[in-house]
Amino acid sequence: MKFPKEINAYCPFCRAHKMHKCKHVSKGRPRSMAAGNRAHARSLTGHGSKRAGEKTVKKQGKRQKIVLQCSACNKKQERVIGGRTTKKLEFKT
Ligand SMILES: [Zn+2]
Repeated sequence: MKFPKEINAYCPFCRAHKMHKCKHVSKGRPRSMAAGNRAHARSLTGHGSKRAGEKTVKKQGKRQKIVLQCSACNKKQERVIGGRTTKKLEFKT
């Protein structure tokens, strides 16, 4: 799936259409103090056995998400493009 590097999109901060740079969404560092991680750690305390993590539902493909960065105010916003595909997102050169 090919997508242009720059698009003219609506910026809710400028309240107008501006040129936006498109980038891949990068996954952030997992938080050790997140609610799910704390609940898992709580289940491991005391006598008992190991606990399995929550199983995730496997979908056929993934949605392609991009970050749009406004050229005027440098604010960022996310956008999902297209439906579920197994193909990876590429930016046109
Ligand atoms: Zn803006």
